[in-house]
Amino acid sequence: MIRIEHLGIAVTNLDEAESVYEKLLGVPPYKREAVSSEFVTTSFFKVGEHKVELLEATDKESAIAKFIERKGEGIHHVAFEVEDILVEMQRLREAGFTLLNDQPKRGADNKLICFIHPKTAHGVLVELCQEIH
Ligand code: ZN
Repeated sequence: MIRIEHLGIAVTNLDEAESVYEKLLGVPPYKREAVSSEFVTTSFFKVGEHKVELLEATDKESAIAKFIERKGEGIHHVAFEVEDILVEMQRLREAGFTLLNDQPKRGADNKLICFIHPKTAHGVLVELCQEIH
């Protein structure tokens, strides 16, 4: 793991959440991006060398919609940047973590990503992400 890359926050209304986080952080989002495979629209803010990702569901089957239904809005995942996602996935699998996908998938913000089940990480959904060069 290299560093914390971003915090993912589940929101019900992206427009409204964007304006609140713009006020909170004092900077506008630098990008908005739909990730159709995940049924979400995301919005990214830079905070120093880290990022905040707001996620709004675009479908009720989206993991974000289900999360909000169960827990309400709030912190959804912590993303760690890794140098080589395949190596990290193998290392974590061998260490007993449950990976939610067998292969890295394409995430927002030009990343390959993989999620680790919260039940194997003390209740935190962990995202591994590797920048696509
Ligand atoms: Zn994320």
